[in-house]
Amino acid sequence: MSKSIANRTCETAGCNSPANLQCPTCIKLGIPGSYFCSQECFKGNWSIHKVLHKVGQNSNSSSNGYEPYNPWPDYVYTGQLRPHKISPARTVPDHIQRPDYADHPEGIPLSEQSVKLSSHIKVLNEEEQEHMRVACKLGREVLDEVASMIGVGVTTDEIDRIVHEACIERECYPSPLNYYKYPKSCCTSINEVICHGIPDSRALIDGDICNVDVTVCHRGYHGDLNETFLIGSVCINAEKLVSVTWECLEKAINAVQPGEKYRELGNIIQKHAQANGFSVVRSYCGHGIHQLFHTSPGVPHYAKNKAVGVMKPGHTFTIEPMISQGSWRDKCWPDNWTAVTVDGLLSAQFEQTLLVTDTGVEVLTKRLANNGIPYFMDYML
Ligand SMILES: [Zn+2]
Ligand SMILES: [Zn+2]
Repeated sequence: MSKSIANRTCETAGCNSPANLQCPTCIKLGIPGSYFCSQECFKGNWSIHKVLHKVGQNSNSSSNGYEPYNPWPDYVYTGQLRPHKISPARTVPDHIQRPDYADHPEGIPLSEQSVKLSSHIKVLNEEEQEHMRVACKLGREVLDEVASMIGVGVTTDEIDRIVHEACIERECYPSPLNYYKYPKSCCTSINEVICHGIPDSRALIDGDICNVDVTVCHRGYHGDLNETFLIGSVCINAEKLVSVTWECLEKAINAVQPGEKYRELGNIIQKHAQANGFSVVRSYCGHGIHQLFHTSPGVPHYAKNKAVGVMKPGHTFTIEPMISQGSWRDKCWPDNWTAVTVDGLLSAQFEQTLLVTDTGVEVLTKRLANNGIPYFMDYML
């Protein structure tokens, strides 16, 4: 069903005014849509809107200069991001130890499914904890490689290649690869993508925010972390979202200690998000992690959740709040992976893998001190 001109509404999120001004650059590039109600809205939306022009130029051009790759012509997108072509899955050399799902035709992690209904939380012994320390440190090194190369013009497929090769150099299997048939070695989630964005041929654009989620599997143990990166110069609202999201994670980590209830973490996170006018995504949670990629405890990030379990020394799990500018509700692209905000507004995320110790917490995936890696929050702290 196509929209008639009389029914066009302004592109600016939240502005539902009728719109008859079309962006002149979009007209020139043959990009459809792009109507605004006023010059003010057009200017106010410019930092987000201009992204569309670069995407147009990146795409394989036809005679009209714009022939988007659109595998789902009838799908109604919530924001401006579009899928681009995905390169073939990368392979992992045989000498690297693989999780069970790596070779399952449907990517099913049978080891996880066998304990799926159990709320039992594994207590890792000293030796198992040491395995986790190593895997998590290697995961951080892999994300460091991303932090050093990410920026304007870099495609998410190139990020995926860097992650994949950095994993192999460290004798790690990239955990996302073939997990429930996930096609790539990491997740790259841009702008309105909440999580599980699939790396593709789209180049990052000035003003984007991009989360890169890395999990490595080293000698049978998984280490999981992610950070949101600011690409070029990002508008002040996006920057605030990203810093508040980091603070939500920090506050939650500071509460981790033996005897604390897992369900308390969501109260802490939502309190801080809400105080800053943001919302907490509910469909995706933190998780237990060790020899299993995702297992109990489930760790919701929203308030008044019903998570089961009390923290004990030797537990290993992630906290990974996804914080959104507008609605907390999510929707999935037809690829069944890419989770986006229903209103197309931005969402950001940070994640660490944690070990509960006798006295508190050890951040197993913590940033390595003074190695000169340009992470966003370094400038803010
Ligand atoms: Zn992760
Ligand atoms: Zn995770």
